[in-house]
Amino acid sequence: MATGNINVTAENIFPIIKKFLYSDHEIFLRELISNATDATLKLKHLSTLGEVKGDIGEPMLEIKVDKDKKEIRIIDQGIGMTGEEVEKYINQVAFSGAEEFVEKYKDKVEDSGIIGHFGLGFYSSFMVAERVEIFSKSFQEGSKAVRWECDGSPQYTLEETDRTERGTEIVLHIDDDSLEFLEESRINELLNKYNKFMPIPIKFGTKEETLPLPEGAEEGAEAEKITVDNIVNNPTPAWTKKPTELNDEDYTKFYRELYPMQFEDPLFHIHLNVDHPFNLTGILYFPKMSKNVDPMKDKIQLYQNQVFVTDNVEGIVPDFLQMLRGVIDSPDIPLNVSRSYLQADGAVKKISGYITRKVADKLISLFKNDRAAFEEKWDDIKVIIEYGMLSEEKFFEKSDKFALFPTVDKAYYTFSELEEKIKPNQTDKDGKTIVLYASDVNAQHSYIDAAKEKGYEVLLLDSPIVSHLIQKLEGSKENIQFVRVDSDHVDNLIKKDEDKISKLSDEEKETLKPIIEEAIPKETYTVQLEAMDSNANPFMITQPEFMRRMKEMQATGGGGMMGMGNFPEMYNLVVNTNNDLVGEILNTKTKKKQERLIQQAFDLAKLSQGLLKGQELTEFIKRSFQMVK
Ligand code: ADP
Repeated sequence: MATGNINVTAENIFPIIKKFLYSDHEIFLRELISNATDATLKLKHLSTLGEVKGDIGEPMLEIKVDKDKKEIRIIDQGIGMTGEEVEKYINQVAFSGAEEFVEKYKDKVEDSGIIGHFGLGFYSSFMVAERVEIFSKSFQEGSKAVRWECDGSPQYTLEETDRTERGTEIVLHIDDDSLEFLEESRINELLNKYNKFMPIPIKFGTKEETLPLPEGAEEGAEAEKITVDNIVNNPTPAWTKKPTELNDEDYTKFYRELYPMQFEDPLFHIHLNVDHPFNLTGILYFPKMSKNVDPMKDKIQLYQNQVFVTDNVEGIVPDFLQMLRGVIDSPDIPLNVSRSYLQADGAVKKISGYITRKVADKLISLFKNDRAAFEEKWDDIKVIIEYGMLSEEKFFEKSDKFALFPTVDKAYYTFSELEEKIKPNQTDKDGKTIVLYASDVNAQHSYIDAAKEKGYEVLLLDSPIVSHLIQKLEGSKENIQFVRVDSDHVDNLIKKDEDKISKLSDEEKETLKPIIEEAIPKETYTVQLEAMDSNANPFMITQPEFMRRMKEMQATGGGGMMGMGNFPEMYNLVVNTNNDLVGEILNTKTKKKQERLIQQAFDLAKLSQGLLKGQELTEFIKRSFQMVK
């Protein structure tokens, strides 16, 4: 038996690490299973090279928990270690790795979200164990099994032992403040979180399985039950396979495996697979976006060589795709760095760009291959796409090929189809093509009707960021302007060279305007006299496109709108000088009656815009009853 001192400069790094990673203690299991997996994969590799004698069978890992003895064992059938290798790899590599870790992170405790992802390796076992033993026997012929023991301090013992099986067994003597890890349910939780898709089968306990009844069995015969290994992982998850080996059903099945609590099927998937200039595989799913989607739940999971790392993919997956679900597996993403560094990293930028491109390409092919199906999905995916068009220039450029603009009657146009369709009838006298849109079919019903009567197409654009999007579209397309149907009287939405004859003379108009202005709140309503059809309503409230859009953009943030103060709520009161009621208002002799007429007409206009509320509404109803009386 030999004892020795581990050669590290920090006398006792253990307490520091323990403090650092307090919330991340659970990673010990992930780290030890990763080591055991590596050792097994190495053995398999050496076996294919013919460097391991005999048949290695189907090696697996095993986790054993003994609550009474307060022990957790992680057992593998991998390459194992000789005494010298334990000296070298455990005493030196593992401990100096831990030391390096402390050096790097002692001032960065705040950034703790990421340091748990750093491969602290074998040393992390001391976060939960007061004492650790290693039993190991190397695959090399004639090598002697060894036992190593250490309590986290620089002293250790190393001696020969009589183990006969190849591989390594790590025994953790669990600390009294980590007893939670002796609960089977806690271990299951960890295995499910970190090791669900590790490439080597992991056994944890046993389970009973019912055998199928043999053919021709008697009715009521008891099926035979047997005890089998309980394997907790799927060593060959879908993303490790080639797309050609999988069908739609396989992808949906894998989605369920990832998110067992998700009952809705995904809309479609994107299989990622690249090995140059970085390595990345994965499957992304577009979920069905219902109103109650919880973006904090069921997020994209990041793996490194099938080991779960995190479900915070900020910086790696572009923002607009964070609502997607699925898996990304890449050994090339640096994790021992802060988020801000990650975002500036060249390789990571390339990864993010690649994902954006793949998603755009998938959307293009879906659109091309089955347009009807794509249109059907549009409502569920539009928010993600519109957000992408706004935030990623490359995506915006490609979106011309698949972004849809639905009308209120559910016809779906691409932008160029729309432009071609509306150009003849919706170009104004200055040569601008006006795209009319509504945001709410019910609230803007009368405006939509009026526009349709003129043969105009009206789009339904109802997602929350639409004002930003149309601003961007106007900026990138030639001679295009978006106007919401209720932003002016229909004759003014698309100004053409047609003069309407006004029944009122200019003089009469000049008299009328101040009378109306006096009766209504001037700060909010601008009076606008228009010669319109005599059947059109006398008073009408519109909200100028520009004002409303700025307000909406401010409300949804971004676009340099911050700090510009609040935009006031401003409307136009359009007065139809050709309507008889307006003539009557002008000619009424008593001031009182005039005011009453204006008030009533004004309230009706407000009512049709949903602007009449509270006390105003109560008074309006009272006044109306008196008038009918
Ligand atoms: P890392 O795995 O990042 O190299 P670790 O501290 O986890 O660092 O492990 C140090 C070394 O110890 C490993 O590189 C490996 O050579 C050896 N090792 C650890 N666990 C095992 C194991 N179960 N079987 C064989 N070798 C192991």
